Amino acid sequence: MTRVFSGIQPSGVPTLGNYLGAIRNWVPLQETHEAIYCVVDLHAITVWQDPKELTRQTREMAAALIACGLDPRRCILFVQSHVRAHAELAWIFNCVARIGWLNRMTQFKDKAGKDREAASAGLYVYPNLMAADIHAYHATKVPVGEDQKQHLELANDIAQKFNHDYGVAFFPTIEPLIQGVAARVMSLRDGTKKMSKSDPSDQSRINLTDDADTIALKIRRAKTDPEPLPDHLAGLEGRPEARNLVGILAAINGTLPENVLREHGGQGFGQFKNTLTEALVAHLTPIAAEMKRLLDDPYALDAALHLGAERARAIAEPIVAKAREIVGFLPAR
Ligand code: ATP
Ligand code: MG
Repeated sequence: MTRVFSGIQPSGVPTLGNYLGAIRNWVPLQETHEAIYCVVDLHAITVWQDPKELTRQTREMAAALIACGLDPRRCILFVQSHVRAHAELAWIFNCVARIGWLNRMTQFKDKAGKDREAASAGLYVYPNLMAADIHAYHATKVPVGEDQKQHLELANDIAQKFNHDYGVAFFPTIEPLIQGVAARVMSLRDGTKKMSKSDPSDQSRINLTDDADTIALKIRRAKTDPEPLPDHLAGLEGRPEARNLVGILAAINGTLPENVLREHGGQGFGQFKNTLTEALVAHLTPIAAEMKRLLDDPYALDAALHLGAERARAIAEPIVAKAREIVGFLPAR
């Protein structure tokens, strides 16, 4: 069975962007693939995380994933730092990837901001760790949002260079699965910026834990333009905020933006935002309630994650042991 891998950082509360662009697409893959999903805490500390908050957010993220439909019996669900093979392979990949490749990564440029010299070295080599996450399992399909496409191309470059340098056919080519009309959900405050859980503005995103009133307020305040909605796609040209809201409703309703416009074209945003709020509240409220229920029993949650880590180790450790041997490290006992 084809192996799928994906991860999400416990760097904040999961957002509507994470849900529509990634998590929701992970759920059906549990039935058709060997699916491995990971809360990537090693990635999260590439920017500062308060230790207590990191622990809390790691559990919260695991609860969110289960509440969204991941079933720890149908997939392997675990926390990245529980499986040391990730860090170990990442080191080997640090020595395979070229600085010139990393210099082209747009996520580093976005996250480091103006003062690049002050960014952590971890943030710079983030893509090498991500490559290790996937290649430690010989996974070949990776469901992610649009923003991760460049990192997946780098993961393929690393695998190719490793195979070439050591004269082996060890790491397979991976294929990104970037799905649906909401592969890139944009910020509610700026239609040219992606929605992110680590954005300092809470108003820029819908969190999966937001209650009905908060969702209503955030959507009401979401940036729009003064024109009514067009009745065809071409009318969204140059209107990133309008396009984003239409895309969100389409994704939530499981339809296409053109169908949303056919139904709501000509409406002002006041009316459209009410429809959008209703759809979001109906969809997200049960997820928030289930998260709360799961977080009420942290022992059961931790136990499920520990079991997941054991299953993950059983796959990753032999693969990374083989990588060590290929590199020529003296066998350890
Ligand atoms: P951070 O701001 O800390 O980077 P994030 O919201 O970008 O958080 P990640 O943990 O980096 O979330 O990414 C988890 C998954 O969610 C990835 O597959 C990523 O592509 C996807 N994703 C993140 N933001 C969006 C978005 N706005 N639209 C669609 N998919 C997204
Ligand atoms: Mg991100």
